[in-house]
Amino acid sequence: MMITNAPPWPNGAKCAVAFTFDLDADSILHLSHHASADTRIAQTSALRYGPEIALPRLLSIYREFDMRQTFFLPAWCMERYPASVEQILDDGHEIGHHHYLHEHANTMNAEMERYWFQRSKEVIISMTGQPPRGYRAATYRFSRNTLDILIDEGIRYDASLFGDDVPYVIANARGRTYEIPSHYGLDDWPHYQFSRDFDTLMPIKSTRGRLARASAIRKLISYMHNKGSVWFATLEEIADYLTELERTGQWHPRIDQLPYYSGPIPELGKVEAENAT
Ligand SMILES: [Zn+2]
Repeated sequence: MMITNAPPWPNGAKCAVAFTFDLDADSILHLSHHASADTRIAQTSALRYGPEIALPRLLSIYREFDMRQTFFLPAWCMERYPASVEQILDDGHEIGHHHYLHEHANTMNAEMERYWFQRSKEVIISMTGQPPRGYRAATYRFSRNTLDILIDEGIRYDASLFGDDVPYVIANARGRTYEIPSHYGLDDWPHYQFSRDFDTLMPIKSTRGRLARASAIRKLISYMHNKGSVWFATLEEIADYLTELERTGQWHPRIDQLPYYSGPIPELGKVEAENAT
């Protein structure tokens, strides 16, 4: 095996598979074009395709294969699209924390980040009946303060970082949580945002639920099912399972200490200053 320290997956499965969808809808439009978002009708319609059309399509694929998966929703989207929240929960899927309006954590100070985190958490509690177990930073903008907040708020896993092929632990002086890592190559956004639809190059905002993509996802899931030895799970189920593996001494995760740096590297500042002259 090329991967070292892989957790022993249940029932001899060779891997755990989690398709995670970030249902951002038009939050990103309001975030980046606050003053004019209401005048951008075409863009809004493209982004509303996510909750209105793509989500029911994806849910029906999951039903077909009897799978439970994880969705990350900005809390503002939950408030705007309560029917989507209901559809996700009715099918037994997990909803993870994905900020309020898809704001970027690493552009806020610690206090603001905590405020918006807690406000979003309250929405999740009131609409799903339980606090979030997992978190994904919007646009992967995990901040220097994010881990502190995740630990304080009892978040059991993060899904924003890329530091390994298999789950590991991110830790600091305050505590730790699981990292269930992703990779830009696994994220469909770069692949699909400007890819071909029926031989026409189209900028697609709601990427994964569009017909051609949904069909590709269905094929992929079907292939994995037929192959066997695959554990389909929500990220919460994976975090639960890892906890049990650790408790029983069957797996010892790699521990990544954060922060990587306490500030800008001084030598580099000098190089930059010299370059500027
Ligand atoms: Zn997002």
